[in-house]
Amino acid sequence: MSETAIREEFDQHKEFGLVPPESAVLNLEAEEISVEDIASPEIQSLIDGMYRIAEDNKNMMVGLAAPQVGESKQIVLIAINKFIPGEPPNIQLQEFINPVIIDESEETVEMFESCYSTDCICGMVERAKSITLRAYNRYGEVFEHVFEGPPEAHFAKHEYDHIKGIRFPERIIDDSKLHWVNINDEEEMKRYKETMANQGYWPPFPRQKYRDLQAGVPLATFA
Ligand SMILES: [Zn+2]
Repeated sequence: MSETAIREEFDQHKEFGLVPPESAVLNLEAEEISVEDIASPEIQSLIDGMYRIAEDNKNMMVGLAAPQVGESKQIVLIAINKFIPGEPPNIQLQEFINPVIIDESEETVEMFESCYSTDCICGMVERAKSITLRAYNRYGEVFEHVFEGPPEAHFAKHEYDHIKGIRFPERIIDDSKLHWVNINDEEEMKRYKETMANQGYWPPFPRQKYRDLQAGVPLATFA
């Protein structure tokens, strides 16, 4: 895989109409939407646009938050299907408006995460094994969904965090579990790919890179 091809893989946010990872909107707590406004053309077209982005991504997106498309609003799409190891997922997204966590297991589990909004940063995130969200759907109806994971509960909390202005590197306390993919090093890239499968390889990561990103510094160049 050429350096350019790898770079393109990490630049998919541009292709999908997502804001760049250094955008300030990603650090903000998103606005709650009043129930009367859910039916408004503005909110309905924002939701349509988010579904369109997921579809353009060959229906492989497991979640998307409105701040990632530049709208500081409490809307997230989250996969509600079950993920069965070894089987191709049949991703089914559901919109969650003003989601609240009504239950979260004490038991936690680690899982590999990456994000369109963190550039080449990935890492192992410890999160609750199960989580229940209550939210409005696009018709203004209240519903609840139980995510039994991983990966389901990780996906849900990752998206929920986005509307709080939190990205997954902030959920990682141990720096050795944060990873920066060096796209200039093909070997490293190969090991990173393997990591996605076996979660076993963790070269050191300079946390400062994430702080730079939060401060608005684009991370498109590599040391
Ligand atoms: Zn994300």
